[in-house]
Amino acid sequence: MNTNHLTDENIQDIALKNLKEEQLPMHIKECTECKASLKAYQVMMNSMNEIRPESFSFDVSELVMQRIKVAEPESSSVWVYVLASALIIFVTGVLLFFMPVLKPFFELFHSPDSMYNLFVAVTSLCVFAFLMQDVLRQYKQKEKLLLQ
Ligand SMILES: [Zn+2]
Repeated sequence: MNTNHLTDENIQDIALKNLKEEQLPMHIKECTECKASLKAYQVMMNSMNEIRPESFSFDVSELVMQRIKVAEPESSSVWVYVLASALIIFVTGVLLFFMPVLKPFFELFHSPDSMYNLFVAVTSLCVFAFLMQDVLRQYKQKEKLLLQ
């Protein structure tokens, strides 16, 4: 007698195919162990087929739609950033265009004091760092939402 038992995958495959008695491999017909495990798999698969899909006491699609509606303002915030950057570009362009006219105004801010310049540099660096951190945080949040 062949002692090489069939693998679990083979037996599951046979159970899934629902083969007739004469179509079964020789080993299954001879080996009580494999026959028993095939029977067990068949019983399990039959009872799995009898399980009805879970019916929920709530409307699943309604819940999903609610979540999608909640997520919508998130995408509109992207447009806020696009509009803000477009506005910044526009303002910069206007400032550059009217530079000769505005130059005396900007000269008011020119200070020989290096502490003042250092303060301006540190402040703008901090603002930039916090903005980048916020952008990164929002990016991660959206990535998490997408991968959910
Ligand atoms: Zn066997």
